[in-house]
Amino acid sequence: MLLKETGVNKNLSAYAFTVSLMEEANIVVIGAGVVGLAVAAKLSERNEGVYILERNAKFGQETSTHNSGVIHSGIHYPPGSLKAKLCVKGNLMIYEICEKYKTPYKKLGKLTVAIGEEEIEELEKLKRWGEENGVEGLKVLEKEDVKRFEPNVEVEKALYSPSTGIVEPDELMNYFYAKASQNGAVLATRTEVTGLRKIGDDYEVSGTSFGEKFAIKAKSVINCAGLYSDKIAMLIGLDVEKLGYKLHYCKGDYFRLIGKPPVKMLVYPVPKGPGLGIHLTPDLAGVVKLGPNAYYVDNISYEVRSNEEEFREDVKRFLPCITNYQLTSDFAGVRPKLQGPGEGFRDFVIRHEADRGLFGFINLIGIESPGLTAAPAIGEFVSEIYENEIKR
Ligand SMILES: Cc1cc2nc3c(=O)[nH]c(=O)nc-3n(C[C@H](O)[C@H](O)[C@H](O)COP(=O)(O)OP(=O)(O)OC[C@H]3O[C@@H](n4cnc5c(N)ncnc54)[C@H](O)[C@@H]3O)c2cc1C
Repeated sequence: MLLKETGVNKNLSAYAFTVSLMEEANIVVIGAGVVGLAVAAKLSERNEGVYILERNAKFGQETSTHNSGVIHSGIHYPPGSLKAKLCVKGNLMIYEICEKYKTPYKKLGKLTVAIGEEEIEELEKLKRWGEENGVEGLKVLEKEDVKRFEPNVEVEKALYSPSTGIVEPDELMNYFYAKASQNGAVLATRTEVTGLRKIGDDYEVSGTSFGEKFAIKAKSVINCAGLYSDKIAMLIGLDVEKLGYKLHYCKGDYFRLIGKPPVKMLVYPVPKGPGLGIHLTPDLAGVVKLGPNAYYVDNISYEVRSNEEEFREDVKRFLPCITNYQLTSDFAGVRPKLQGPGEGFRDFVIRHEADRGLFGFINLIGIESPGLTAAPAIGEFVSEIYENEIKR
């Protein structure tokens, strides 16, 4: 396959190629967020001709860099779900990667707090789910023990999960990108997919690359387009409404706390509604983020729209000293949710669509939280589907 080199840069992530007309690929991965990169890194271990097409100028410019950067433990997801399995596995894998490749991380531990008596039952449920999911070291702490961990936190009880931590998403993506590149996979940036057609046993993937039209013939296509993954499914002719693949955008804003950090660990309320609740997340430098909240929107934008007082009031319920702190608006992210307003739990969709006439086409849709944590495990999961069901 011929590629035009368009920009050599010492920064790996800015390295780019354009794809020319009617080239051939073995596997095309659409989207270079953390998931697309992790999938490409794994698939390229055993397969040649892996191409990652990304419409932005650099990888990881969307949800993968607009999130809390938390390595979740796996307590929030119903046992047996893909979210649960891939989160618990991904958690272990990320710590291994960070240790081995000196990627900065901190295993800070997390407190999920019951503010009133009525929330204790929910805390017990999370502990049960976590244990069923294989999360180790979970412990319910009494009020006094919580104080010993975090003197500023005032609650009835808390669930302690020692395996929760934080990582820098950009660094994790640098790792997956480097792996994929070493294995021979190619990332084409500024390359937007706008057309998909099945031609015989293959797919024609088309669009624009650096402003010029392109078309690639591929044996397999992996849809890792994040917030746009339902649009990609539509391009290949799937009825996203009927299949339950339509995405709902659920935005989350963050504020940053100015001054001496009031907590050292991650502190979350028990979840209510579509998000995990406005929580406190120290970053690698110890600076504490507040957020995200959760509200459904019609369009994708990364502008912070919430009011800081709303955040302060919410967090004051378990961290009264928040009233002494100044907050500054930080950033926002948008969750690609399968679950619409008022609807119940929806799992990740990771599916080989062979039974819908699309042999070789794998959809990844609704990869919201814990997608960052789960990314390396998703890479393995997709690779197993590919090796067992697709490889010819
Ligand atoms: C507010 C918020 C907080 C979160 N916090 C956490 C957390 O703490 N821990 C955790 O584990 N998870 C968290 N998540 C979830 C996590 O961030 C996502 O699950 C993960 O980043 C999804 O990665 P992705 O690669 O699927 O999507 P993306 O990062 O969105 O990547 C998709 C890529 O596809 C590209 N693309 C789309 N359409 C096309 C096209 N037509 N042609 C070419 N390229 C295309 C996009 O440009 C993009 O780069 C959070 C999410 C949000 C919104």
